[in-house]
Amino acid sequence: MDTSKANAITYDSMTGLRDRMTFFADIKRNAAAGRFGQIVLIQLTQLMRINRKYGVPVGDALLRAIAAYLKGLDVEAVAYRIANSRLVLFRPEGTREQAAGLAGDIQARFREIWSVDQEGQRQEIMARAHVIHFPLRLKDTENDLLDKMNYAVTVFHEKASEGVLFFGDELNADMQHKKYVMEEVRYAVENKTFQIYYQPIYDCREGRFTSAESLIRLFARDGSFISPGEFIPMAEENGLIDGISWIVLEKVCCFLGEHPDLPLKTVSVNMTGQQVLDPTFIGRIEANLEKYHLDGSHLRIEITERTVTEDFAEVRKVMEELSRKGIHFYLDDFGTGYSNLSSMLSLPFEVIKFDQSLIQIMNDTEKGQKTISLLADIMHENNYCVVAEGIETAVQVESAHENSLDRIQGFYYAKPMSEEALERFLGQEGNA
Ligand code: C2E
Ligand code: MG
Ligand code: MG
Repeated sequence: MDTSKANAITYDSMTGLRDRMTFFADIKRNAAAGRFGQIVLIQLTQLMRINRKYGVPVGDALLRAIAAYLKGLDVEAVAYRIANSRLVLFRPEGTREQAAGLAGDIQARFREIWSVDQEGQRQEIMARAHVIHFPLRLKDTENDLLDKMNYAVTVFHEKASEGVLFFGDELNADMQHKKYVMEEVRYAVENKTFQIYYQPIYDCREGRFTSAESLIRLFARDGSFISPGEFIPMAEENGLIDGISWIVLEKVCCFLGEHPDLPLKTVSVNMTGQQVLDPTFIGRIEANLEKYHLDGSHLRIEITERTVTEDFAEVRKVMEELSRKGIHFYLDDFGTGYSNLSSMLSLPFEVIKFDQSLIQIMNDTEKGQKTISLLADIMHENNYCVVAEGIETAVQVESAHENSLDRIQGFYYAKPMSEEALERFLGQEGNA
């Protein structure tokens, strides 16, 4: 039964719409009565810019104009302002199609100009909004709904067709999957349960495997495999990549310490450009080397140009200092970034790794072939060694040799493998 407290309606003082507290109370009350209804979320995306450009009073007047529009749109729907730039229409009754129609109308309205009067001055403003349609679900709590809204806003550009995003089963499943992945990553960081695989790299001149790249592997608690291509970008977004990289570095150092006779000259670890700028970076590497009685000359660090975005002078200083200690750097995924090539190549890399996408053009056309050949020449003239990544076929191996690429990493020779498999592999290859 409704209590008078649950019925108390509170309002947003700026727009006069019902506020966030009332929104969640209304949803709860309707759900208790078996009405789940539909929600249309209007996330204003440029309110800050509008406030800066026209002044806060104009921004406020725009909000009131949008609020008045939403209020008058549909007698069956109630409008709310639930956060600074977040407005909502809740339609307790009616079909999904009716709510979709409403969302479409709102989206269309945002393609037009809003005229606002502020102290006698008329301003014509274009406002932008993400319009997202949610059918409410039986079990949605307040937090579920907020999670869905936040998720929908972040994926809006990727997924919204026709300008309105529909938060249906597919998006809900995506969100649940991402949540699951992040929970597994957090668990693996806390318990250091990541595994490290190693992919041997073939040296064309020596005709044997002289190095390997360490690659992280995450097996979830239910036994399923989550690929680094999926979770590493998420870990970067969620501030977990630093912790992950140090776990990998320690596990690699431990492995190298326990296997002093491993017939490899070097093993590389993937890190980020931001980490290199961390004042504790060199100290932490040295502490790991000391802990496992290593001198560092076997360790290499891979960074991608994507993650070196600032402070090249400082990055160079750290690279030079580590290089003096025998720890050299690889530029990973060359050919995928859009950064300034000359700045990138001014850094003291030992090796440039040509990304698989770049390698693929090598056999596509004659022009592709010439491009790789030219790039390899430039790298060699500048004393860089070149690794070809993602080599899968005998034809690609042949082209790599023809273009004088120095080393080959790819499924053609070896896939990433566990520590034990690596030892067996190197033994069998007569590398020892
Ligand atoms: P990456 O550093 O460029 O690593 C090479 C990736 O290419 C690996 O994917 C490897 O398995 C894959 N690869 C090697 N040869 C072939 C081939 O012939 N064909 C194809 N299709 N793929 C090949 P993986 O292990 O899935 O890792 C993907 C990316 O995730 C890595 O790209 C790296 O950016 C990131 N990553 C992996 N391990 C770590 C880590 O320990 N730390 C960090 N920060 N990132 C990591
Ligand atoms: Mg790499
Ligand atoms: Mg790469």
